[in-house]
Order: sequence, then structure tokens, then C-alpha cells
Amino acid sequence: MVIVMETNATEPQIQKVIDILTAKGFDAHRSTGATRTVIGAVGRDAMVLDPRDFQVLEGVHEVIRISEPYKLAGRVFRPEGTVVRAGPKGQVAIGGRDVVVMAGPCAIESEDQITRVAASVARAGARVLRGGAFKPRTSPYSFQGMGEEGLKLLRAAADANGMLAISEVMDSTQIEAASRYLDILQVGARNMQNFTFLKELGRARKPVLLKRGMSATLEEWLLSAEYIMSGGNHDVILCERGIRTFERYTRNTMDISAIPIIHKLSHLPIIADPSHGTGLRDKVAPMARAAVAAGADGLIIEVHHDPGSALSDGAQSLYPEQFAELMGQLKIIVPAVGRAIS
Ligand code: PEP
Ligand code: MN
Repeated sequence: MVIVMETNATEPQIQKVIDILTAKGFDAHRSTGATRTVIGAVGRDAMVLDPRDFQVLEGVHEVIRISEPYKLAGRVFRPEGTVVRAGPKGQVAIGGRDVVVMAGPCAIESEDQITRVAASVARAGARVLRGGAFKPRTSPYSFQGMGEEGLKLLRAAADANGMLAISEVMDSTQIEAASRYLDILQVGARNMQNFTFLKELGRARKPVLLKRGMSATLEEWLLSAEYIMSGGNHDVILCERGIRTFERYTRNTMDISAIPIIHKLSHLPIIADPSHGTGLRDKVAPMARAAVAAGADGLIIEVHHDPGSALSDGAQSLYPEQFAELMGQLKIIVPAVGRAIS
């Protein structure tokens, strides 16, 4: 951290900053220029310093943070990038050469539904089956999901098609049971800053897909990943799923720029969810294509065999034929950005 003093800062004001830094165990490196004095704080753990504690001091002009507040999630921790291996044999690698597509219904509704959707998305090339069993619905009167029964159906449908399974866990009490059925645990946008839950996931032995909170900055998102990683689980996959802006045409605003920025700031893989990112079926494929072109390590897409009768998110769910068509397009785009797709 660097503290830039006002041009008219007095010697006692400068000394006060130095004294506070020293008291906190930091070395204060003073450089006295022709017009301004600048004080650099050097120490083991600059994260413990709150820039605002210095901003409010008399004579301070500006406080500039130099190091990132996240360590384990930052690119410098593993410059070569992280490949998260999911599945009992680590058979699906996310963050490597392959662009990995996850697909399935928003919610598991019945054996018939998940079986049909699983077969169609597997045929088109999806490697991970999605489906919510615990649904975080805005209204308590909306369909809440099938719970553990749904997870059993999801597991069976995934196995029948040689796929991995992903589903959302909503709180700590669900982690253990969900881990028995799932290959990847999904943390929903609404839970991105549930810090006690994130700490529990740090102890889980399954990869975690961490969705971006609806109004989370990239830094807040990476700090949430840091919570999971600092608990000992380094298998974190980020997922951009759209953020809330002033625009009302789409359900959310799909932040494609987050993809290259996260790749710069972090070594963690990032996938895109254009279904929640737009909320509208006809906007899903264009945003999926854009996300892959922008360097996404994968996609998660909602597909339903009969979206009109879906119990949740039907309007943003692709018909199986639309999903297959999209997969065909991705096979053309993916090699152009130096990646592969199976
Ligand atoms: C979902 O994937 O069905 C879901 C609820 O996503 P999000 O947490 O991004 O809203
Ligand atoms: Mn959904």
C-alpha cells in the first residue's frame, strides 16, 4: 500500500502515518519529493491494512493499494493456470484445452424429464448433466425442487449417459448428502457471499462451481473463491451468470468482459451461463458463442424437452434441437480460439 500525502501535509501528519504503520508491524518507506511525501507500507501481510483507516487521516491525499486482497485465487499464485479435474477418475478437465459443456434442465422435475433431457444433451456433446434439486426461488410459493430424490434421478441419468453431474447446494447441511450424488457442487448467485457456507465448502472434497453474485464486483467474487480455497479446497470453477444492471430487456446483463478479465486476475477456470445471463431463449446461443470466443473454459446451459411446461426457467431453456445446433456452431468457433471440444 502506498500513502500519498497532501502537498501541504505537515511533518506531524506525516509522522502520524508512519507511527501507525510501525505500530501495525509494517516498515514505512518514506520518500520526500519536491511537492509531496509518499509513504510505502512494506510488510508480510498488507491484507490486514484497511486503506480507509489512512484515507481519513489529516494530510492524506490518496491511498493506493498495490497488492490484490486475494492470494490463493490470484494469477500470481499459479501463473500457468489451474485445471480442475472432476469425476471419480478426474475424467473431465475444466480449464485445460477442452471447452467443457454442461447442460440440462433448470430443475429436475421427474424421472421421465431428466432421462429424456440427459439423453439429448449427451448425444449433442454435453459432458456434465445439470439439474437443480434444491431451487433458490425468488418466491417461496414457486416450485422448490425435488430435493435428495431429485439428486438420485440426476445421478442415474448422468451415469446412463456417461456424464458427470452438477447441482446446486444451498446450505451447509446439504453438502454431505449432495456430495454422494454429485461430481461438482454448484453455489448459486444468491449464496456467493454466504461466508460460513463458503468456509464449509472449503472442507468439501468435490470441485465447486462458484457463480457470480448478481451485483458482485470481480474482486468480491474472487474473494469468495478465496474463502473456499483458504479452507483447503482449491478446485474452484468460476461461473459468470449475468449481473443486475439498469437494463430491463434481459433478465440480467451478461458480462462477457468478465471472462478475459478473470483470466488475467486469476488462475481459476471460468465458464459462462448464458441462460441466466440473458433469461431469454433466443439470446442464449449468441451469448454462448460470444463467451467461448472470449475464452470461456466451458458453458452451462439450460435445456428442456418441453420448455413450455417447465416448472422453472422455461423461457430461457433451449429445445434439444437448438442445443444440438449450438454445439455444432461451437465446434467451428472453438478451434479458432485455440481450444478443443469433444
Ligand atoms: C440455476 O443454475 O438454476 C440458478 C438458480 O442459477 P443462479 O444461481 O445463477 O441464479
Ligand atoms: Mn435456472
